[in-house]
Amino acid sequence: MLKLQNFHNNADIRPSDIWQARARIQPFVTRTPLISCNCSSELPSDDMSIYLKLENLQTTGSFKIRGATNAIMALSSAERKTGVTTFSTGNHGLAVAHVAKQVGSRAIICISNEVPSAKVEAIRRTGAELRVVGKSQDDAEEYCYRLSKQEGLTVIKPFDDPYVIAGQGTIALEIMEDLPHVDTVIVPLSGGGLISGIALGLKSSNPSIRVIGVSMEHGAAMYESIKAGTPTEITEYPTYADSLRGGIGLNNRYTFSLVQSLVDDIIRIPESGIKDGMRFMIKQHHMIIEGASATGIGAILSREIKKLGRKVVIIVSGSNVDDKYVQEIMTNPL
Ligand SMILES: *Cc1c(COP(=O)(O)O)cnc(C)c1O
Repeated sequence: MLKLQNFHNNADIRPSDIWQARARIQPFVTRTPLISCNCSSELPSDDMSIYLKLENLQTTGSFKIRGATNAIMALSSAERKTGVTTFSTGNHGLAVAHVAKQVGSRAIICISNEVPSAKVEAIRRTGAELRVVGKSQDDAEEYCYRLSKQEGLTVIKPFDDPYVIAGQGTIALEIMEDLPHVDTVIVPLSGGGLISGIALGLKSSNPSIRVIGVSMEHGAAMYESIKAGTPTEITEYPTYADSLRGGIGLNNRYTFSLVQSLVDDIIRIPESGIKDGMRFMIKQHHMIIEGASATGIGAILSREIKKLGRKVVIIVSGSNVDDKYVQEIMTNPL
């Protein structure tokens, strides 16, 4: 339920920040298409339409370029000159590496050994410096903060940052332009930068639009934190939705409270639902997407969402996936 007083009192990020982000990032990002989903046979009623917002076609293969660009372009020229660093499950690191290269900044990207090779190789190809450390996103984060102190680099956080949240929120502006009567938006959820920005953008214009987060079953940090009423530590588990791994930070400043006040529901889907979503996109739309990105479609196919509206948008968040996973899901139906 939307608690309006929280919404209006949230002084740290305003809807106007999203419009500023839009102007700042426009030269660097793609305005992605909103298409009809070929899933009418899966829907409970005829007067309902589902649309896909294709951030899998975004520059660098995920929406993360929006937030990363906004954060880097908001730095002082002195900060940009010294350089940036970040910790990431892959896509944010790739986005930071890409933008840093465009603006001529040094970038050191810290990732754990668990990041799949498609993402590692894509980061390498940008020419950014890469540090692979530890077995979890938390290990990469700790290393990144030490490095930032030693080298004087600015940390570009993956989600708990007002500029990153506002950057991801630009997706909401595009959805409202393309589908003014949107009533429900389904968003893959990890640290919550994506869903916070989108919810802020949508609800500041129409508070009755429902925003629903989808995570994997095990190690869903935001889900567990909201349930506990406070940012909570989780154990990471292997999942097809590798981009949704990692904690939300025990000192979370923005996304926990934004999700608490603006997100209507968070659901979790099993690995089989994630694979169904990936397979559906290949068969029905001829697009290869990554697991995290398939959670929303998986939730629709498995009818996990109890209250759906009539004009529903699913965020398809990214495409960076290893060939071997695609082979696995296509050859092994379970
Ligand atoms: C980062 C990411 C998410 C989750 O975004 P958060 O802001 O961490 O909630 C979802 N899908 C993909 C493909 C991602 O890279």
